[in-house]
Amino acid sequence: MTAPLLELRHVGKTYAGGGLLSRRKVSAVKDVSFTLAAETPEVFAIIGESGSGKSSLARMVLGMGTATEGQVLFRGQDLARLRGRAARLDFMRQVQPIFQNPFEAFNPLTRVDRYLYATARNLAGADGQPAAEAAADRALQQVGLSLDELRGRFPHELSGGQLQRAAIARALIPGPALLVADEPVSMIDASLRMTIVNLFRELRDRLQVSILYITHDLATAYTISDRIVIMRQGEVVEAGDARAVLAHPTHPYSIQLKDSVLSVEGAWQEEGTRP
Ligand code: ADP
Ligand code: MG
Repeated sequence: MTAPLLELRHVGKTYAGGGLLSRRKVSAVKDVSFTLAAETPEVFAIIGESGSGKSSLARMVLGMGTATEGQVLFRGQDLARLRGRAARLDFMRQVQPIFQNPFEAFNPLTRVDRYLYATARNLAGADGQPAAEAAADRALQQVGLSLDELRGRFPHELSGGQLQRAAIARALIPGPALLVADEPVSMIDASLRMTIVNLFRELRDRLQVSILYITHDLATAYTISDRIVIMRQGEVVEAGDARAVLAHPTHPYSIQLKDSVLSVEGAWQEEGTRP
C-alpha cells in the first residue's frame, strides 16, 4: 500500500504569545486532520478568514514550523522526524511553496531569470548554464511565460501577475508533487486572479501535481478545487467535496461565507458553473 502524499493527524499549533513573562498562549490550529492521496492529484483548498490559522497550517506542511500537537506526514514520513541533508533536500524538491507577495519571494537586486537558474542548479540538478536555462524555460512555459520574456529582468520590471507566474514556475522547477500556495492571488489585480488560479487546475492535470490552495476567497476556491476545508479560529468547521459543501453548507460560518459570496456572484446559484 502506498502512503498518502500528505496526511495531517490531529494537528495543532500553539504559540507562546504576549512576550517572555506572559503565560498567554495562542492556539492557532486545533485538531486538524485530512489526507491527500498519492495516486490522484487534486486541488485542495483551505478556506478561512484572516487569523483562522491557514498560514500556520501551511508552514507546518512546508516543514517551516513544527506541529505542537499531532503529526504531519509526507509520504508516510513524519516531518518532525525528518533528519539529514539528503532527506531535507528531497522533501524540498517535492513540496514547494508559493507565497502571497511575489515581490517578497524574489530578491529585488537579483534578476528573475538568475533566481530560476539557481533553483534549477540547487534543486533540480541542472549542471551548467544551458541546462539551467532549459529547466527555467520549461517551467516558465508551463505558466504561460518564456525565458525570452524574462531574461535580464529584475522583479520590479515585471507586473505582479507576471512575477507570481514566475514564482509558480520557480516552484515547478524541481518537479514537485505538492505545491503549497498561501493566498497566492490576494495581492494580484482582480482582473488577473482567475487566470492564475485556473492555472493550478491545468498544472494538476498536466504535471500531476497536487495543490494546497489556501485562501480567504470562497469564489476562487469553489471554482478550482476538488475538495475544500473551511477553517474558523483554528478549527475545521466543514470539509468535503467542493461542490457538495458549497451546495449544502451546514456550519453557520460556511453558510455566512457562502451568502457573502452569493451577494456578489450571481453565477453561484447555477449548478455546473464550475469548469
Ligand atoms: P491566517 O493565515 O488564517 O490569517 P495565521 O496562521 O497567520 O492565520 O494566524 C492564526 C493565529 O495565530 C492568529 O491569531 C495569529 O495572530 C497567531 N500567530 C500566527 N503566527 C504567530 C507567531 N509566530 N507567534 C504568535 N502568534 C502567531
Ligand atoms: Mg495567512
